[in-house]
Amino acid sequence: QITADHVISFLELVAERIKEQRDYLTRLDAAIGDADHGVNLDRGFSTVMSKLPSATDRSISGLLKLTGMTLISTVGGASGPLYGTAFLRAGTAIGDRETIGPNELITALSAALEGIQTRGKATRGEKTMIDAIAPAIDTLKEQYAASGDLLAAMRAAVAACEQGMIATEPMLATKGRASYLGERSIGHRDPGAASAYLMAQAMLAVLE
Ligand code: ADP
Ligand code: MG
Ligand code: MG
Repeated sequence: QITADHVISFLELVAERIKEQRDYLTRLDAAIGDADHGVNLDRGFSTVMSKLPSATDRSISGLLKLTGMTLISTVGGASGPLYGTAFLRAGTAIGDRETIGPNELITALSAALEGIQTRGKATRGEKTMIDAIAPAIDTLKEQYAASGDLLAAMRAAVAACEQGMIATEPMLATKGRASYLGERSIGHRDPGAASAYLMAQAMLAVLE
């Protein structure tokens, strides 16, 4: 079972990894965007960290919604509203449950992806965070249905997420700032796919 403490550990780990990888994410964005992705996310997750101690609703959904609202108001750019919507949708999908199991986790992650797709109007193959997130969720669903082993399914999902991230490199960007580059977007890893992979790794780490 997954508890609110797992969510807090996840958010702390994401904040830490984003800070560590801020320059890497920003360098990726310098190649095909405006060199702010790492800085944007670090600002957002640092603000989430500063708000956590005084959060009144410390339920799973309360923590996810606080994160979503904070990302929307502090990250800016394309990724702020997209990740913000993802966390809000996940929080709404979970509702007032005190703990959740694998099926609710899968439902919440699917709702998060749907939120990103609705908000960004992008689909797979357009060189965005969706190319890392969607295959990860597909794999999680398939592997969990086949084995009933959440951890094994999560490990496979993180591997699929990494493959999805790497697969953005040869893609032509057709959404977001990278699309302004046209053919010159080819040959670079999408920064949002890279940050999504960091989050997937953090999720696995807190469940292991
Ligand atoms: P901005 O491009 O506004 O500076 P960021 O640099 O923070 O914002 O985030 C860029 C990332 O956002 C991209 O690498 C991509 O993964 C993601 N992104 C941009 N537009 C979309 C979209 N329409 N749908 C999904 N993801 C998108
Ligand atoms: Mg940017
Ligand atoms: Mg920007």
